[in-house]
Amino acid sequence: MSNLMPNATKNNGGFDIPDHSRIKFYCDDNRCIDCHGCDVACKEAHHLPVGVNRRRIVTLNEGIAGKEKSLSIACMHCSDAPCAKVCPVDCFYIRSDGIVLHNKETCIGCGYCLYACPFGAPQFPTDDVFGSRGSMDKCTFCAGGPAPTHSQKEFELYGQNRIAEGKVPACAAMCSTKALLAGSSKEVSLIIRTRAFNRGSQTAEIPYTWSKAYGDS
Ligand code: SF4
Ligand code: SF4
Repeated sequence: MSNLMPNATKNNGGFDIPDHSRIKFYCDDNRCIDCHGCDVACKEAHHLPVGVNRRRIVTLNEGIAGKEKSLSIACMHCSDAPCAKVCPVDCFYIRSDGIVLHNKETCIGCGYCLYACPFGAPQFPTDDVFGSRGSMDKCTFCAGGPAPTHSQKEFELYGQNRIAEGKVPACAAMCSTKALLAGSSKEVSLIIRTRAFNRGSQTAEIPYTWSKAYGDS
C-alpha cells in the first residue's frame, strides 16, 4: 500500500473520486510513532518559512507509560468547512473532490478562519512591525492553488502540486508506519475498520478528528 489514492483517476490536474466520496486525511494513533517524518516532508516539499507549520504532531498523555498517543494534524479539508463560512472576502473554494483551498492574493490576513477552525490549521507568517499577519497559509493536500497548475507562482504561493501529478501528499508518502493515510473516504474508512477488526475490536471507533471534520461518514 502506498498510502492510498489508488481509486482516484487523474483528470485535468485533479481527481475524480468515482464513488462520489471525498478526499480525506486520517492519522491512526495506534501507528504514529512521533517520528516527525510527515511534518518535515511537508516543510521540505513546500519550502515553508520558519514559523509556518502546515502539519504538526500532537502528543497526548506525554510521559505516561502506556497511555502516550501521537497524532499528525493538518487542515482536515472539512466537509462543511467552518473557515470558508466566516471568511469576509470569500477567498476559500472547495474542489469537487473535497479539497479545501483558498486564494492567498485575496486573503486579507484577518485571522477569522483561525478562530473558526477546530484544528488550528490556518497559519500566518510572523507578525511584522505593524502587527500585520500577512496572507493565511495552510495545508493544500499538496494540490496547489488557484494560480496556473505547476507555474512558478503556484509553487511560490502554495507549494508543490503533487495531486496534479497523481501523487499522494508528501506527508502521507513519507509516513513509514502507514499511520497517515490520504485518499477517498471510502478507502480510508475501510482501512480504519479493517485495522480495528484485526486488533480484535468488534466495531471501529470513529476517531474525534474524523467525526469533527467529516461527520461520521
Ligand atoms: S510520519 Fe507517520 S509515524 Fe511519523 S510522525 Fe508522521 S504520522 Fe506519525
Ligand atoms: S481544518 Fe480548519 S482550515 Fe481546514 S477546512 Fe477545516 S476549518 Fe478550514
